[in-house]
Amino acid sequence: MKRRTFLKHSSLLGITAVIPFKNFFSDPAKKSFHRFSLGELELTIVTDGHIPLSPVQPFFAPMIDSATVATELKNNFRSVKEVDLSINVLVIRKKDKIILIDTGTGISEGNVSGWLPQSLADAGISPSQVTDIVISHAHPDHIGGLINKDGGLTFSNAQVYLSKIENEFWAASHPDFSKSKLSDQMISSVVSAAHKTISVIKDRLHLFNDKDVLFDCIRLQIAPGHTPGHTVCTVFSGEEELIDVADLVHSDVLVIPHPEWGFFGDTDFDLAIKTRRAVLEQIAVKKQRIFAYHLPWPGLGHVRKKGDAYELVPEVFVLPD
Ligand SMILES: [Zn+2]
Repeated sequence: MKRRTFLKHSSLLGITAVIPFKNFFSDPAKKSFHRFSLGELELTIVTDGHIPLSPVQPFFAPMIDSATVATELKNNFRSVKEVDLSINVLVIRKKDKIILIDTGTGISEGNVSGWLPQSLADAGISPSQVTDIVISHAHPDHIGGLINKDGGLTFSNAQVYLSKIENEFWAASHPDFSKSKLSDQMISSVVSAAHKTISVIKDRLHLFNDKDVLFDCIRLQIAPGHTPGHTVCTVFSGEEELIDVADLVHSDVLVIPHPEWGFFGDTDFDLAIKTRRAVLEQIAVKKQRIFAYHLPWPGLGHVRKKGDAYELVPEVFVLPD
């Protein structure tokens, strides 16, 4: 569907501006997506809900003194009781293709997530229109939405793309979590979810390698640590690009200024720190625009260097969607 092209002229301080009509007449009930263009692509960010993580430790900074972590949260005017993760899903429309990057949690306890189908409907997209799905990694909050409540496929016409390394990791009967801080119970829960979901999508699964390009608009970069095949996707069109950093960072105020504090959910805790630093450095030096799955809605911004680490500069919006 093409973006509406109705325009309205407005005069303020003698300046005539051309303002998108939709900003004045959008339905206030439909706030679940943010749409913009990137070169010839139409990008839409939709919400799948959120994941409140409480208490903050040991999910974040498991080996750091709790007073230090609390001070950092307070200095940023954030709760010291929880970090609430957004679940932002990127949708790319390129001619007749509709491509999702990740799919949210699917059914969730307490209905705090699994909102993707409704958010897509609000954005004018039905599940059957989705042609392709790129999976950044096979954790339940990224692959859960592939399966509906009856155990069937949510996106019946879509092909699914996953890194070869990621697929091999989860295909093992006992994937190697020896460098992780996850509990045995959490490991068995993520492993069984991955086995179940991957078996359902097996006949439509395509495996990619580092640096592969999909659909002439998504460049893939393996960024290991969170999981072995965790993938950062650069969406590009002409000179424009947007880097979907997936689960490189789960908090803007904890692990961007302190990449080494770490995240409990990382499969290889130390490798994730190394990769986090390397990719944040690349993004800061090249001044690349990012999209992050778990950072506060809609997850858009830039990263700049601050001391020997980094800070997020969120994108700002003059008008609501
Ligand atoms: Zn995640």
